[in-house]
Amino acid sequence: MESTALYYQESGKTNPMGISLALIAGLAAASVLGFVYAYATFYIPFIYFNFLLTYFFGFSIGYAVGKVGSLGKVRNSRVLLLSALAMGVIGIFFAWVFWISAASGGELMSFNMNTTWFFIQLIAMEGAWSIFGFTPTGGALYLIWIVEAGIILFGVIAAVGAGMGSKPYCESCDQWLNTQKVTERVRGVANPIGFRKEMEGKNYDALKKLPEVTLGARNRTCVQLSCCPGCSNQHYLTVDKIERSTDSDGDAKENTTRVLENLRIDRLAYEDIMEWGKQF
Ligand SMILES: [Zn+2]
Repeated sequence: MESTALYYQESGKTNPMGISLALIAGLAAASVLGFVYAYATFYIPFIYFNFLLTYFFGFSIGYAVGKVGSLGKVRNSRVLLLSALAMGVIGIFFAWVFWISAASGGELMSFNMNTTWFFIQLIAMEGAWSIFGFTPTGGALYLIWIVEAGIILFGVIAAVGAGMGSKPYCESCDQWLNTQKVTERVRGVANPIGFRKEMEGKNYDALKKLPEVTLGARNRTCVQLSCCPGCSNQHYLTVDKIERSTDSDGDAKENTTRVLENLRIDRLAYEDIMEWGKQF
């Protein structure tokens, strides 16, 4: 049955192969990066760097699950999110196993959960590291570990969607659509809410009348179109607003916000917008 929704909605369909591949990718990331993360945090005593590392450890696991899940044609972001969180928890466990191994000069290494938990309790009594002459132990240290695990899982959650991407899927042809950038050389949308209403009402003039700007402009709009290469019956429009600014170091920085994502359009509108984009 054809959906009548304004925007693309994932069907929620999964397949055992896609889920298995996503889990294997997540497990690979959790073990390899768990090892790297454990040794890096043990040997590199920079708190700020460790903080970023903690986030990227989780992010990589989530990204791997999302990316491979999408390659395996999983159209269910909730299932992939739960899979990624499970792999994130396993990653935290691996990080502990390898950290204990690093801290003991390779002498203590066990993948047994009870043994690892026993070591963790010993470390909590002794303290794991010092900062400004202060060595957190007991409750304070457990709290820090809980925050650390929270940052890892937060990284996982933030990454799954990024790994999956936002391409729509054609259920009749059983494949992801092709997405193509039409232009990013028109002025930024001034009123995103009003613009969205115009687009939803199929009044594409609001888009086509945006004046041309250079790539260095402070405000630009990026227009993308998706089309099913199989049936040519599915068309979607995605619009981003790109704001360019200069940070305190004088470097240009671009901030992208999504104005609309995968708005369903008909074939005529698709061809019309594609044709319009050729002038840039
Ligand atoms: Zn199709």
